[in-house]
Amino acid sequence: MTDHLPGLSDDADEGDQPSLSAIREALVSWYETDHRSFPWRETTDPYRILVSEVMSQQTQLSRVVDAYEAFVDRWPTVEDLAAADRSAVVAFWSDHSLGYNNRATYLHEAAGQVVDDYDGTFPRDPAELQELMGVGPYTANAVASFAFDNGDAVVDTNVKRVLYRAFDVPDDDVAFERAATTLMPAGDSRVWNNAIMELGGVACESTPSCDTAGCPWRRWCGAYQTGDFTAPDVPEQPTFEGSRRQFRGRIVRLLGEHDELELDTLGHRVRVDYAPDGEYGREWLRGLLSDLEDDGLVRIEEGTDQVTARLR
Ligand code: SF4
Repeated sequence: MTDHLPGLSDDADEGDQPSLSAIREALVSWYETDHRSFPWRETTDPYRILVSEVMSQQTQLSRVVDAYEAFVDRWPTVEDLAAADRSAVVAFWSDHSLGYNNRATYLHEAAGQVVDDYDGTFPRDPAELQELMGVGPYTANAVASFAFDNGDAVVDTNVKRVLYRAFDVPDDDVAFERAATTLMPAGDSRVWNNAIMELGGVACESTPSCDTAGCPWRRWCGAYQTGDFTAPDVPEQPTFEGSRRQFRGRIVRLLGEHDELELDTLGHRVRVDYAPDGEYGREWLRGLLSDLEDDGLVRIEEGTDQVTARLR
């Protein structure tokens, strides 16, 4: 089942090998504990979700919120929008700087189709939703997922970046599609697609914030293990305060899981390319540990034949 996830070997939780269910649960629980609140996440009304999706295509989410609320205040239902004057909808679009006006035209047209062709009830299936004017595969799947919990796994740029980094999925659309489909728990597209998009939006961004965002996949993530955060849309290694900060976080986490760790044992767990006398070896690790000791987080103990580190 995990053939499409190169970073995973099988479905059994053996030692550090994660099971698909552990990976899924970790992400869903991370999302459900805390996530950005958007008004369209509080509804399962397909009309409102369609409005939010069309608006989000060209506009930053933070700016979409005001426009969305004004729009559904003015045209609360698909029937209201279908009955509206098209020029009023287009004028609204321009006034709120929502991008190409033809999107407003299509949205108005789609509302008319729902009312006239579907008796005011949105189709639930992604393929049928694509029959609506201006609704492409991505939007159809989003509406099917968020309104009806009936979608497929979303594969957008954010999701590709996450899959590439976390599970070494090759930069290939078919591979991404298969990996995303394998990961998504069947029948849970609403929470799953929200969760993985949230991960890409607030944790696994171009410059990732694995530790500060509390990414739930750190213990399994290939990029986190190696410190290589390049991705198809991030060809250069991002220059954030550094993988140094990432490695500090990783050391603290590892020491939190053990009473104490001997220097080389810690080193090998901190990074896969750790070599005691190499570039990323004892000297490098001692530097990080000294910083953490100065910050009052870690205690280094010099024994007669070994050096150990523990949390304070
Ligand atoms: S650990 Fe970091 S790089 Fe890996 S999936 Fe999480 S946020 Fe992305």
